[in-house]
Amino acid sequence: MQVAAEALRAPDVEDLVGAVMEAVARAEPSLGAGLQRLAQAWDAGVVTPAMLLPERGRIAADAVVRASGLSADAAGFLAVAGLRPALEALYAPLREHLVEGAWSLGVCPFCGSPPGFIDVIEDGRRRLACHLCGGAWGFAKLRCPFCGVDGAQHLVRLTPEEAREEGYLVSACRECRAYIKEVDRRVRWNAGPALVEDWGSPHFDLVAHRQGYWRPVPSIVQLTARG
Ligand SMILES: [Zn+2]
Ligand SMILES: [Zn+2]
Repeated sequence: MQVAAEALRAPDVEDLVGAVMEAVARAEPSLGAGLQRLAQAWDAGVVTPAMLLPERGRIAADAVVRASGLSADAAGFLAVAGLRPALEALYAPLREHLVEGAWSLGVCPFCGSPPGFIDVIEDGRRRLACHLCGGAWGFAKLRCPFCGVDGAQHLVRLTPEEAREEGYLVSACRECRAYIKEVDRRVRWNAGPALVEDWGSPHFDLVAHRQGYWRPVPSIVQLTARG
């Protein structure tokens, strides 16, 4: 995390973040004023790239929300979409050094972000995917990655009739009320990368939101849901 805070310089990432802000402004015009304030704060150096990095289980610092008036979800989404290319390049060389099983926490061992998606791989094990840097790591099957509670009784699988698709499900926690989507790649052998699968399945997010669950790593659907 410290690595990224030092390596990310505003001029290096502002084209990326700027492009994402423009795309979001086009897709969701109601966010225009907040994005404008964020751009001004960025130009003035009040908001820095380091403030978009994950901290204590969430993405994008309060300072970003305060400076822009955007929701925490919108700020988090901008961080994921805007910083991903830079962080992916930054951490890629470190990935091969992660020993399987050496990391058991529910935050990315590379950048510190909460996980954004779960892949169930060939042997049935779960791998958590980080949307912010593209990292992935193995994780216990019956543990909530967000609050750490252990045991099937705490977890609930949301597979509602109207959105049933074999191999896809929403895994939610009764304790912290967070959810995360997963794809079983033994069934969905042609599924895309985790980020593509996640952003491409907003109907599952809507099902989870209707039942009162939330997700720590915001997706596109949060931009329109609450602005
Ligand atoms: Zn990461
Ligand atoms: Zn939990």
